[in-house]
Amino acid sequence: MSGATIQNDHIMQTYGRIPVAFERGSGAYLEDTNGKRYLDALTGLAVVGLGHAHPRVTQAITDQAAKLLHTSNLYEVPRQAELANKLCAISGMDRVFFGNSGAEANEAALKIARLHGNNKGIKTPTVIVTSESFHGRTMATLTATGNRKVQAGFEPLLKGFVRVPYNDVEAIAQIAENNPDVVAVLVEPVQGEGGIKIPSDDYLAKLRGICDDKGWLLMLDEVQTGNGRTGTYFAYQQSGVMPDVVTTAKGLGNGVPIGACLARGDAAELMKPGSHGSTYGGNPFVCAAACAVVDTIVEEKLCERAAKLGEQMLARFKTALKGNNNVADIRGKGLMLAIELTDDCTDLVGKAIDAGLLINVTQGNIIRLLPPLTMTDTEADAVVDGVVDLINGK
Ligand code: PLP
Repeated sequence: MSGATIQNDHIMQTYGRIPVAFERGSGAYLEDTNGKRYLDALTGLAVVGLGHAHPRVTQAITDQAAKLLHTSNLYEVPRQAELANKLCAISGMDRVFFGNSGAEANEAALKIARLHGNNKGIKTPTVIVTSESFHGRTMATLTATGNRKVQAGFEPLLKGFVRVPYNDVEAIAQIAENNPDVVAVLVEPVQGEGGIKIPSDDYLAKLRGICDDKGWLLMLDEVQTGNGRTGTYFAYQQSGVMPDVVTTAKGLGNGVPIGACLARGDAAELMKPGSHGSTYGGNPFVCAAACAVVDTIVEEKLCERAAKLGEQMLARFKTALKGNNNVADIRGKGLMLAIELTDDCTDLVGKAIDAGLLINVTQGNIIRLLPPLTMTDTEADAVVDGVVDLINGK
């Protein structure tokens, strides 16, 4: 590896960092402090979907920064209204709350679920969540997360959650029979941190059916899957189902910190003045950037591009890795791609860096790729070739 030695003793050691530091980026490429170039098939974990230093986003950021960064949600924020209008037109939702991250977007969703329950006189409103999910690191979202490692040491966890296996409708149907406290279901349409787990095609439709029967909110965490990543603006748009609440972040700002909780119908009316807030949430600066991101995704047809590139890459992986006994599964939706190996492959992250390629390994044995939606065919081929070489070298 490049071996950038950065004195970071005064940073809380929440991350085991790879010793590389990047200086600049352009499109699908990053350059480190030694001038070495890397093809970025990770985009800062599904954040920089338009690629690095995208000219439209850079322009929007610089124009807005020269005019006005922040006022307050005490006043009207036209840029925020403009972004909410765009997101509602795309999603079919009615209202948006803006925060600064995915976790905050999910916090807002969980608070909406509790308001929904408390308004119905339910004393312990309970949200159904799934195993191997990831929803964030705040107390409520780490409680919702289906990974003990994220929770360990932070007990007591919050009340009001019940967990079922992912993609198991029957488990939810049973809870529907027995638990009168349930008010909502929160799931990812495709599990990201969980290893690009793709549920059955009718999973969301079946959940919608149960939620309608029971008066529960269907809440989708699209923090990772949103903003074109899976081939439609939101992943649920491939299911024929409308959620009551949908959260997103990551790709919405292309690197500028923003999170959004969108809601529809009655769920959109539960938050009142004073219910919830965030000092920075939806300020002119982040909303100008996000407006440019949304416009670019729509006008440059990047959802369609993600769907097509994803199919091409999957097909090439399947051909190139056919018969390789180290490979347990190859799957993906749009540009959320996974190659699951039979054994631990965490060493491949470092080997990829040596080869000038940025990838991620999740769950120990799943190579996760989240490349930019703006990649050229040649860059997509280079990602596939690079990953195949790494796997074949094992
Ligand atoms: N939800 C999902 C599905 C995520 O993938 C993530 C982050 O990886 C989060 C929530 C948390 O987002 P943030 O890190 O912006 O708080």
